[in-house]
Amino acid sequence: MAAETRRMKVGFIGLGRMGAGMAARLIERGHDVTVHNRSLSKARELIERGAHDAGRIADACRGEAVVTMLADDAAVEDVVFREAGVLQSLPREAIHVSMSTIGIALADRLAAEHGRAGQRFVSAPVFGRPEVAAQGKLSILAAGPGATIDACMPLFDALGRQTLRVGEKPSGANLIKLAGNFLIASVIEALGEALALVGQAGLERRAFVELLTATLFSCPAYATYGALIIQPASGPAGFTVALGEKDLRLALRAAETLHVPMPLAGLIHDRFLRLIANGGEALDWSALGHLPGEDAGQARAV
Ligand code: NAP
Repeated sequence: MAAETRRMKVGFIGLGRMGAGMAARLIERGHDVTVHNRSLSKARELIERGAHDAGRIADACRGEAVVTMLADDAAVEDVVFREAGVLQSLPREAIHVSMSTIGIALADRLAAEHGRAGQRFVSAPVFGRPEVAAQGKLSILAAGPGATIDACMPLFDALGRQTLRVGEKPSGANLIKLAGNFLIASVIEALGEALALVGQAGLERRAFVELLTATLFSCPAYATYGALIIQPASGPAGFTVALGEKDLRLALRAAETLHVPMPLAGLIHDRFLRLIANGGEALDWSALGHLPGEDAGQARAV
């Protein structure tokens, strides 16, 4: 049987906005999936669709691999390093596939501790919002030993439309992901400022976005966030302000470690703090693009 069609016995920990759709994709593709979430109720729908129920983290660690898709460093540290967590429960040679957006230092620690325990580790953070995850069309940034990534390909093929191998050192994938999210946030801020300017003059903002994305800026980041910024913040967040603040904070931490001044990242991090201080933590992070209009006396973001 070809490697990409091999069915795997896999655990999946973290059934939030991203993880629920990703675990569902693995089930649809015929993998033998055992799910665990801190709030146990979120596993119910997936169990109805054929997943096994892991009441405890250890029960999700009995297969060839376990995927974690958790909010942040604190969540990953808790799930992996606690008593009877992933590190203590995963068999030797089994693989921890860390798909959360986490910091460089934690990714390095995970690689080292799993190595000491005789387990394998791959960092595989992703680009794509929850609707993209549910369709199995994520872009996966995979870093780790080549043979370990090869072993994960049946999972990645179910979850993504492309898997980009970005080196042997796992934390390299996390750095690329953080740099990418810094760029997306910069696009949101810049678009918000340009749209505030155009709107203040009474020009049509939707036509401006259409013009931009049909000419100099024809790429998904401008199209997705242009469309989100010109409508008032509404509906459930795809990616929250809280997670956006976390990513800018982690990018700045990496920049400090590597001695790279990133003044724009500092400015955008402050914009996220402003949203959080005003109760906007749970908004979609495109709310960042509403702040310039608000500064110009236009509609309030929160
Ligand atoms: P989310 O909806 O907030 O879900 C977070 C998950 O982490 C939930 O399963 C939550 O469990 C769990 N969790 C949080 N703190 C925990 C703790 N201390 N111990 C155990 N579990 C804990 O987040 P998401 O949007 O799915 O994002 C997940 C990861 O993917 C993040 O690292 C994010 O940066 C990254 N990401 C997100 C997107 C996006 O568009 N949303 C895109 C690419 C990457 P409970 O259900 O019990 O709260």
